[in-house]
Amino acid sequence: MFHLQEFLKQQQAQDLYRTRKVCEGQQGPRQVCDNKQVLSFCSNDYLGLAAEPELAESMRKATEKYGVGSGAAHLVNGHSYAHHALEEELADFLGRERVLLFSTGYMANLGTVSALLGRNDSVIADKLVHASLIDAAKLSGAKLRRYQHCDITSLEQRLSKAGSGKRLLVTDGVFSMDGDIAPLNELVSASRGDASALLVDDAHGFGVIGKQGRGSAEHLGCHDDIDILVGTLGKAFGTFGAFVAGSDDLIETLVQKARSYIYTTALPSAVAEATRTSLRLVKQADDRREKLQVLIKRFRSGADQLGMTLPDSQTPIQPIVLGTAVQALSVSRQLASAGILVTAIRPPTVPEGSARLRITFSASHSTQDVDQLLTVLERCG
Ligand SMILES: *Cc1c(COP(=O)(O)O)cnc(C)c1O
Repeated sequence: MFHLQEFLKQQQAQDLYRTRKVCEGQQGPRQVCDNKQVLSFCSNDYLGLAAEPELAESMRKATEKYGVGSGAAHLVNGHSYAHHALEEELADFLGRERVLLFSTGYMANLGTVSALLGRNDSVIADKLVHASLIDAAKLSGAKLRRYQHCDITSLEQRLSKAGSGKRLLVTDGVFSMDGDIAPLNELVSASRGDASALLVDDAHGFGVIGKQGRGSAEHLGCHDDIDILVGTLGKAFGTFGAFVAGSDDLIETLVQKARSYIYTTALPSAVAEATRTSLRLVKQADDRREKLQVLIKRFRSGADQLGMTLPDSQTPIQPIVLGTAVQALSVSRQLASAGILVTAIRPPTVPEGSARLRITFSASHSTQDVDQLLTVLERCG
């Protein structure tokens, strides 16, 4: 067998060893994790829908109708009325010709980039894009060129060096570990031309910002200009899965070629049914989105009073960048001993030297929860 112990010991020595907590009950601010009651600020359940009774009820009913497993891939006989209806409703919501459901966001990115690009093409990616987009670029065989975070000058330098093949610009809408929003209007301009396209992965913006939760591009006024929109359903939508939205030709190409679509079992139909309910709730969730903004503002002004400088983020992702993995782990442990769960995010998830606490808020947090977090942060110095 391979000498795995060496690797594991090394991870431990560098404070990069990862462990899992075992949590009980539903997703929400108050959970029991590793047998301890905690107040948590680390999930992506931004609207508090993961434990919404209406979603659970629609999933239960759909399970009676469809059973549990979908039984096959979409192109065999696993594509149900529920999947089809969800795709049409998402397309309608986003003003796109078509939507294609994928089993996860990771698979949506892998399948899309590798279906569209090959060896002679280029992927031009923000330095801080999600790992799945980097893996997607590698899988496609295209040349991967990364520009400085949100830096259009750096992007244009990379573009000018790209060869004559196709160029796909890829970015997160809201950056998953930083919470800032990509300069999408500028990216739209930079990606004009027959051989270029822009893919926006809006895993953390979809449902959370923009009119009715349409996401980052809607928030910035360029929603109709994004060629390829990727959204995930396991975050603000509170269910599971992901989708790609775009033109009829794009979606048809993915149906023919995206291997992570073709060679995998379809999502359970009951998950798709629950997501249809979720879409209905997300559209009407202005109160939850406003509540989030109240919590974010309260946290930021409280942190400011404590003399902490936070990166510029208007989204529920509010990182406290600490530096080394040890520093991030140590503060995370101090918070844990005060009953507050915020996980330390370490390299390679974030660049070396920028280990952090990634604090996230959900509409199901209360202002008292935010105050409690601030009190404990103050005590931890
Ligand atoms: C979470 C995330 C994904 C992956 O989505 P899953 O459905 O969890 O696989 C993709 N892109 C970004 C930016 C994400 O934050």
